[in-house]
Amino acid sequence: MIDLIVIGAGPAGMMAAGTAAENGYKVLLIEKMERVGKKLAITGKGRCNITNLKDWDEFSLHVHPNPRYLKPAFYFFPGSATVAFFNEIGLPTVLERGDRVYPQSQRSIDVINALRMWLERVGVMLEPHQKAIRFEMNTGEKRSKIAGLVAANRYGNEKMLVARHYLLATGGMSYPATGSTGDGYALALGTGHTIAPVFPSLVAALPVDYDRQLEGIQLKNVQLSLFTDGIRRCTEEGEVFFTDLGIEGPVGLRLSRQLVVAMDQGQRAELRLNLKPALTREQLSARWKKEAAPLLRGYMPAALVEPFIRYVRRAGVTEVEAMQDWRFAVASYGDWARAVVTAGGVRMAEVDARTMRSRLVDNLSFAGEVLDIDADSGGYNLQIAFSTGRLAGAKWAATAQYVF
Ligand SMILES: Cc1cc2nc3c(=O)[nH]c(=O)nc-3n(C[C@H](O)[C@H](O)[C@H](O)COP(=O)(O)OP(=O)(O)OC[C@H]3O[C@@H](n4cnc5c(N)ncnc54)[C@H](O)[C@@H]3O)c2cc1C
Repeated sequence: MIDLIVIGAGPAGMMAAGTAAENGYKVLLIEKMERVGKKLAITGKGRCNITNLKDWDEFSLHVHPNPRYLKPAFYFFPGSATVAFFNEIGLPTVLERGDRVYPQSQRSIDVINALRMWLERVGVMLEPHQKAIRFEMNTGEKRSKIAGLVAANRYGNEKMLVARHYLLATGGMSYPATGSTGDGYALALGTGHTIAPVFPSLVAALPVDYDRQLEGIQLKNVQLSLFTDGIRRCTEEGEVFFTDLGIEGPVGLRLSRQLVVAMDQGQRAELRLNLKPALTREQLSARWKKEAAPLLRGYMPAALVEPFIRYVRRAGVTEVEAMQDWRFAVASYGDWARAVVTAGGVRMAEVDARTMRSRLVDNLSFAGEVLDIDADSGGYNLQIAFSTGRLAGAKWAATAQYVF
């Protein structure tokens, strides 16, 4: 008899499966794609920002919608434990600015290989090309219990998999080509769980009449503010990138969660860019006036000058005003295909955050992005996957009766 079936071989599922197997349990990890960790491979632009070493007080500021639910998992397995874990399984790491940790090799494939070899060593049975279709529920019992899991191979042939416990780690629905297509929500709904509405987060904002000449420009040390219905919601400083999808980069993405929520509520969203946040308006004005024939190139990257002049003319504002308050009305935001994370998911009130076990179903646990927890970019999302995966695997192992 299999002790535990883990559904989804992303970072959360691999961590949970390996942890339970390390404790002597018979663990089957099923993955619908042809190999494990397809999303992990594209993280951090192929470099994989494994974690962030901020302590809870700072880390929690980057977690949404309710960091309280992550606290037990974080304390059980914080960023420092993630680093120690990877070093132990043979992956050297480096610390970079902003407390972000990467593999020393700067290659996400090395993170995947380290995890894969660890799973093999601790005896996890891995079945790729095996898609979880639905849970069969045991109706005769007082408390809700899963009787089996129907899974299908790549040819659509179904079989019933039976275990003592099941763990759902199917991720969210962003970058669906990696296998994260939201299957976990239907699977959870089938057991009686409810789902907080899901929406893409860490997405680009597409400006109205986007000036395509901006594409490819990357700005450093600038400030971006989000206004909704004319009210300032938040301001962030750092890097802003203009891409084929619109405004993104670390700062653009950080504002995107609030932007999506506001736009979904029918509010008007506007991003305001300050190219000179270190100067007051008076200081910038004085500097501009002092120069006989001020050259915009002294104030911004050369590639920005033409779109900037077009904006100044269209908006009917002065150069100094535009430099500190370049307004971009937002037409729409990016879709699932290029959203970095999924907000929403299995409601945390229905999950015991101290163990990751379902409060509704006797033999079900959860880990990772399938849950209603998400975070800003900077290594926080993978740490959520590792913390919840480790906690789910360890707590289940600690309470399960030992069976060989
Ligand atoms: C482009 C990009 C870059 C990112 N960079 C970073 C970064 O550098 N640092 C960071 O912290 N976070 C990053 N993230 C976010 C991070 O990758 C995710 O938060 C994390 O992968 C979530 O882990 P997970 O295990 O919960 O889900 P996933 O990684 O989505 O894994 C879920 C797995 O479940 C499988 N699955 C789904 N349905 C089924 C089913 N029915 N049956 C069987 N298997 C199934 C999927 O195929 C998938 O392999 C990035 C995301 C993207 C898209």
